[in-house]
Amino acid sequence: MAEEKKQVTTDLVIIGGGIAGLTAAIYAVRAGKQAMILEAKAYGGQIVNTPDIENYPGFAHISGFDFATGLYQQAIDLGAKFRYERALGIRSEGEERIVETRKREYHCKAVILATGAKNRMLGIDREEELTGKGVSYCATCDGSFFKGQDVAVNGGGNTALEDAAYLAEICNKVYLIHRRDQFRGDEADVEKLRQKANVEFVLNSNVTKLIGEDKLTAVEVTNKLTGEKRELSVAGLFVAIGQEPDNQAFANEVDLAPAGYIEAGEDCATKTPGIFTAGDCRTKTVRQLTTAAADGAVAALAACKYIGA
Ligand code: NAP
Repeated sequence: MAEEKKQVTTDLVIIGGGIAGLTAAIYAVRAGKQAMILEAKAYGGQIVNTPDIENYPGFAHISGFDFATGLYQQAIDLGAKFRYERALGIRSEGEERIVETRKREYHCKAVILATGAKNRMLGIDREEELTGKGVSYCATCDGSFFKGQDVAVNGGGNTALEDAAYLAEICNKVYLIHRRDQFRGDEADVEKLRQKANVEFVLNSNVTKLIGEDKLTAVEVTNKLTGEKRELSVAGLFVAIGQEPDNQAFANEVDLAPAGYIEAGEDCATKTPGIFTAGDCRTKTVRQLTTAAADGAVAALAACKYIGA
């Protein structure tokens, strides 16, 4: 017989312990509410992989890890509760919102979905098999394994540019592969990369094959304009082609846009009363640290108002 799940009662459950979720917790506990954060992986979300943040007001330079750790500690010190558990779904029973995990059911008055986004995959053969064997989605986590070797970065956004700059410092050579000849990321950073002797731009090109027996030894790139194929001998491929949301588990209670983001405006309210959303997981035009933090505050204050005295 299936074991009965433990029941926990709290005012507010925050799903996701990234910047939006942690900020929401700070606002909620300061407003006198109990806040339980559920996080499946590690606190801080995507920002922990950023070596140097230069665009958060008040911090000229801070690492993503230090920033996230400071925020996590602030939330805990103020009284937020944090548990490493994956939220499997939400259901509504009258006024109550129930968040289910593998072991527990959290009964609460309001929920904030702050699930962020996960790394987009290339979707080519052997990608999963070679992940951790040369294919990586995090240069700051795995870059040091490739010291002195040749590697490639795929992508044209700020993450790919940052990854290429970071890897150029520790690797022998970095190929920056991008599907267009214009970059989505900041031009100033593209220019800095152009100045580096060990960075080669491979433009208008896609990675079309991963080569290697037990581990990656090369990638095949195909030029989109000419159809020409080229094999680059690399020990590592860092995939930095953006993120995708992961909200299907909550689709019974919130509307999802075609790309999977939770439908909500600047008020962070979803179609279900008592369920709010914050940060990169919701429909929005700018996904930055500042906007994630701003959403956390807006969603928490709305949730506190909904919960009432
Ligand atoms: P992004 O800005 O969405 O860029 C993704 C890049 O990958 C784009 O160049 C895109 O090409 C390419 N791409 C997407 N799907 C692809 C596919 N299937 N195959 C090949 N290429 C593909 O993602 P991001 O760089 O991870 O950045 C996410 C957000 O975080 C952005 O708002 C970014 O500014 C922000 N960010 C900020 C900082 C910072 O301020 N320090 C650092 C990192 C990230 P196209 O350009 O052709 O669409």
